[in-house]
Amino acid sequence: MAKIHADPFANATKQLNDACDILGIKDKGLREYLAMPNKMMRVKIPVRMDNGQIRIFTGFRCQHNNDRGPYKGGIRYFDPEGGVEYMEREVMALSAWMTWKTSLAGVPLGGAKGAIYFNPKKEKFSRIEMSRITRRFTFMISEIIGPQKDIPAPDVYTTGKEMTQIMDTWGKLHGVTQQPAVVTGKPIPMGGSLARNVATGLGTAYCVREAAQYIGLPLKGAKVILQGFGNASTFSGEYLEKMGCIIIGASDSKGDIIKTSGMKMKDLEKWKRKKGTVVGFPGSTKVTTEKLLTTKCDILIPAALENQIDANIAKKIQCKIIGEAANGPTLPEADPILFKKKIIVIPDILANSGGVTISYYEWVQNNLGQYWGFVHVAKLMEDHIVRGYHDAAALATKKKIDMRRACMAIAVKRVVEAFELRGIWP
Ligand code: NAD
Repeated sequence: MAKIHADPFANATKQLNDACDILGIKDKGLREYLAMPNKMMRVKIPVRMDNGQIRIFTGFRCQHNNDRGPYKGGIRYFDPEGGVEYMEREVMALSAWMTWKTSLAGVPLGGAKGAIYFNPKKEKFSRIEMSRITRRFTFMISEIIGPQKDIPAPDVYTTGKEMTQIMDTWGKLHGVTQQPAVVTGKPIPMGGSLARNVATGLGTAYCVREAAQYIGLPLKGAKVILQGFGNASTFSGEYLEKMGCIIIGASDSKGDIIKTSGMKMKDLEKWKRKKGTVVGFPGSTKVTTEKLLTTKCDILIPAALENQIDANIAKKIQCKIIGEAANGPTLPEADPILFKKKIIVIPDILANSGGVTISYYEWVQNNLGQYWGFVHVAKLMEDHIVRGYHDAAALATKKKIDMRRACMAIAVKRVVEAFELRGIWP
């Protein structure tokens, strides 16, 4: 399904330039400052495999901006079709989106992203090989991460297990046994926060609820298509289902399915657990990715990878709301087409910001050494999301622009304010 289109970093920069136009930022130097990452670290990761051979992996940590607080962003293990060079540009783009996301969410953090170019779902790695890869990567980036510097989190094909190994390795290198605030997305016994595992999907569902209310779409009986079937997608689906929606489409790396009469999330999840894919779900039809994205529905949740909705798909899409649980699923060329069709696109930096918002509260809890209940944490996140949605909707209406431009303008303005308050040193 994954399509290689334009350079993702060029897409991110185009979105930034649009925001600068809205804000009247003409200074070329400032635009370049906002576009380029502060630091990009590319590392060689030598690992002794179980068969005795040495294998070299390539890893990245890109720190985009820390004017508003420590860098923050996930680490993914993946092998995009474009190869290592493409991944470098992808990580740069993703780190910039993290800067805008933390800013829009109103949490005092910056933006970063990391990755190792390999796919643990395609190739089999033993538990110990996985641990060696993660720990050696942590060693390579250990000087630039830390609770007050840069705080990684899980992303595609990484989980609380990898975060625990990063925390443990970093702690040993720095002579501390207890420093959970170096990563977020940890399992609960390791200092994780309640509600973090569901945060991204729950946040997406809150955004969709606000958008539906705005256009007068009843959620009861609203038809939803999910692209992807991992963390972001399944919790979006579960919470939208709880709000009354019906899931009629889903997909994963093995294929895409539609069942217009609806599928229960718990049945789909059970099927996926048993078969390793959603494909073949009883009563469903296997379709192409294009068909999945363009089947008539009310709410489309792209929750897999970037570059999924191009101009061609945008012309054919038949939904009312798109909630971008994934990062960068829509190409810039598609935005004006969707806007003209009056489809509300809740951009990634808002729609999936529930994850980083609860990550922020996980970090706060770690720093305080105090732990809060699920309902309290979820409510804190809901407040950020609802405020973010309404701030952006108000600006979008006032300026007659789409939600992406409105969100970006709000986020960029806050980073510029922080940059100007700090000034340039020396
Ligand atoms: P995940 O590893 O839990 O799931 C990824 C899903 O994508 C899997 O179901 C996989 O089968 C599917 N996938 C992979 N290749 C695919 C393909 N070619 N076609 C269709 N599906 C494919 O990852 P996740 O955490 O759910 O992340 C998904 C997206 O959400 C990413 O863009 C990520 O950056 C974004 N996101 C996640 C979080 C989070 O907290 N998990 C936060 C913000 C953004």
